[in-house]
Amino acid sequence: GKPGDLAVIFDDYRRFLAIGLYDPTSPMRVRVLHHGAPAEIDRAWLADKLAAAVAWRATLPESGTTGYRLVHGENDGLPGLVMDRYEATLVVKLYSLAWTPWLADLRAALGEVWRAGVIAKSVVCDEAISHMEGIASRTPLAMTAAPAVVLRLSRELERQPEHLYGLTDGMMLAGPPPDGPVQFSENGLRFEADVLHGQKTGFFFDQRDNRARVEKLAAGRRTLNVFAYSGGFSLYAARGGASEVTSLDASAPALAAAERNFALNRHLPAVAAARHSVLVADAFTALADLRQRGQRYDLVIVDPPAFAKRESEVSAAVQTYGRLTGLALGVLAPGGTLVMSSCSSRVSAPAFFTAVNRAATQAGWPLIELDRTGHAIDHPVLFPEGAYLKCLFAQSVSLNHVV
Ligand code: SAH
Repeated sequence: GKPGDLAVIFDDYRRFLAIGLYDPTSPMRVRVLHHGAPAEIDRAWLADKLAAAVAWRATLPESGTTGYRLVHGENDGLPGLVMDRYEATLVVKLYSLAWTPWLADLRAALGEVWRAGVIAKSVVCDEAISHMEGIASRTPLAMTAAPAVVLRLSRELERQPEHLYGLTDGMMLAGPPPDGPVQFSENGLRFEADVLHGQKTGFFFDQRDNRARVEKLAAGRRTLNVFAYSGGFSLYAARGGASEVTSLDASAPALAAAERNFALNRHLPAVAAARHSVLVADAFTALADLRQRGQRYDLVIVDPPAFAKRESEVSAAVQTYGRLTGLALGVLAPGGTLVMSSCSSRVSAPAFFTAVNRAATQAGWPLIELDRTGHAIDHPVLFPEGAYLKCLFAQSVSLNHVV
């Protein structure tokens, strides 16, 4: 068989067990799409799955959110396939070659769901937009006849061009290519994302709820956002009334986007009032330097990339989380709040939370936990390993703090 051929799995008595997409190039030989009674996998089946995924997220546009994950892989019954929506632009990201022969059906199914108004009926009407030049407020997205669809490929897939039949990362599956970053709203804040070249599909939607929690904690606080990317947490902190916000990341283009994202929201008084600065640096050395220079923050957010991509990297990753905790606490003012996050699916929640607490205690700055959280609703979790995002909100005990 070739990647994407339908594979039917039978039990020992030759009874139907499941049907999925075959991939001879992957250790995951079959991506199971359906089990139980036999089903026909075709365009209509795909459209049903997409419609169900859209229905699950139906309330998001009401909160002023037009950028979110529309399909979260196996957690939406479509293993190896991620789809993110940026207003009228959809980004399809493939993590398995098995989807390549299905792209035409997928595009047609998406078009059907879009035309039925399920995706498009959300209306962009948040306050933020009405202040913005050039964008008509209250424009129903349904007026857009069809979405632009961008294809993104995982690095693993890009390494196998012989199986890609000319498909390339960043190519358009439908519509003209965007003439720059695309814009969208998240909880009423405006952001841009580079959907053609940005990390993942251009933005990290999984942290939406944790960003909203940060907003509530930020009033009057000096805030440091480590691994800031395009400033997601930074903008929420600013809208929440942070006195100053520093976005730290190793990527200069990501921080340039963070600055543009601040500019997009300058009409909000709190954002205009917060002093925002960016620091292009390696987080590990920068945190040590800031501590050395006596810089202290009341709110420190640490949201690093995944440290463990395979099982053999787990123990080193756990150690790195501990090290980062110590470094972050080194710049946290007495009584300040630490937000530590992990998106390494192979590091379990107990292992992560223990590592953070242990490192804090060892550093002499034990933490009082405020909350342990995970993903936002557009990242449903249908199996234990699907719960990859862990986030700890904690307060340092001021008495023990050595400044
Ligand atoms: N917190 C972000 C997402 C972070 S993704 C958000 O809410 O959108 C991880 C980020 O870490 C990327 O932007 C990457 O550029 C940055 N990064 C990776 N290694 C780094 C390092 N050693 N020092 C600083 N930044 C790093």
